[in-house]
Amino acid sequence: MNNLVLSLRFSRNIKCIQYLNVRFYSDSTVRVRFAPSPTGQLHLGGFRTALYNYLFAKSKGGKFILRIEDTDRTRVVDGAVEQLQEDLKWLGIEFDEGPSNNGSYGPYIQSERLENYQRRTQQLLSAGHAYKCYCTEKRLELLRRDALRTRTIPRYDNKCRHLDDDDLRNNEGKKYCIRFKLNQSDGFFNDLVYGHIARNVAAVEGDPVILKSDGFPTYHLANVVDDHDMKITHVLRGVEWQPSTSKHMLLYKAFGWNPPNFGHLPLLINKDGTKLSKRQNDITIDAYRQKGIYPEALLNFVISCGGGFVQDKEANNVYIKPLSELISKFDISLINSNSCQVPLDKLGHFNQAQLKIELNTDLGRKRTTEKLKSIVQNTFSNDKSVELDLSENHLNKILKWSINRITNINELIHENYK
Ligand code: GLU
Repeated sequence: MNNLVLSLRFSRNIKCIQYLNVRFYSDSTVRVRFAPSPTGQLHLGGFRTALYNYLFAKSKGGKFILRIEDTDRTRVVDGAVEQLQEDLKWLGIEFDEGPSNNGSYGPYIQSERLENYQRRTQQLLSAGHAYKCYCTEKRLELLRRDALRTRTIPRYDNKCRHLDDDDLRNNEGKKYCIRFKLNQSDGFFNDLVYGHIARNVAAVEGDPVILKSDGFPTYHLANVVDDHDMKITHVLRGVEWQPSTSKHMLLYKAFGWNPPNFGHLPLLINKDGTKLSKRQNDITIDAYRQKGIYPEALLNFVISCGGGFVQDKEANNVYIKPLSELISKFDISLINSNSCQVPLDKLGHFNQAQLKIELNTDLGRKRTTEKLKSIVQNTFSNDKSVELDLSENHLNKILKWSINRITNINELIHENYK
């Protein structure tokens, strides 16, 4: 792998000119991953992350990997992994390596890689970068309460970092977890979207747990170990993970590994400025599919804010671009760093544009009339007062008439059109 570490003068949006570390990889070695936790349905935010990773990999001739991060067992939802893969397939986002698709770096589900995390933790312990922590839940709760009382940010006080041999002997047989020693140095990195980021983690946080008492790793350890072991070259993820990245840089340093490049994607927000949330059930990919939204419409909609594409002159009037065009026009340096307002009310325009494209081809027309037929049948099968003409000819006529009036064929069964 050609991963020359160069120090270079880097300028981003003329905002910052600084000396930064950037790691270069030849295009064909580019490996990115989408690493969701199977805690529910895939929603617009997760989809945007998957899509930008996919576009980046494909624009470089690299590989797109799906990795399931399921080490927080309390939050795992049954069936979520299967549903997620189905959603990605429906959206046309195919992964090169992943749980249901053999690759050389598997398994691609973290709960099947426990031994590896335990081995890596041992490595940190032996090198003096980690320690056993015997603090009880009760003590940690007292620390939290104390912080609340003194109005300070709750953080672990690193007590067990300083246990001597006698203390360790006395604690033998007790339950423990492993914590990573945060170094008093900046976990700095060059963010491919935000530029130079420096954060002295140790100044604001206590030493984080990396291996829990049940032998499961926490997110930080598993994420870093897997990105290294799976030879990930670029990590593109939501900006909410940016504070964790500084911590991850310290872990890479302790292991003696070269970190990948990091790029954080701006926050997605609603019109009123609130964060687009996983808990908004109506923004799941499955909900959109059920509502009759086309995958092409969703793809183009989700990239319509936030940038990342070379613009052509007539682009403003074109709603739908095929995936192949999105790949060729993708340029990570064009992603905006400010939060992007998702124009949820515009999704209909994108869907209407795709509906027009569908009706322009024989295959698409046939598919759409068949879909309309089944929607009408399902809706009116028990209603004897309605006489149904479901001939292809008639359905075609209806679709032709409605094309500028509807954004989604499900609207045709609405009261207004009866
Ligand atoms: N498992 C994390 C999530 O649920 C992944 C974050 C990352 O990409 O590193 O989003």
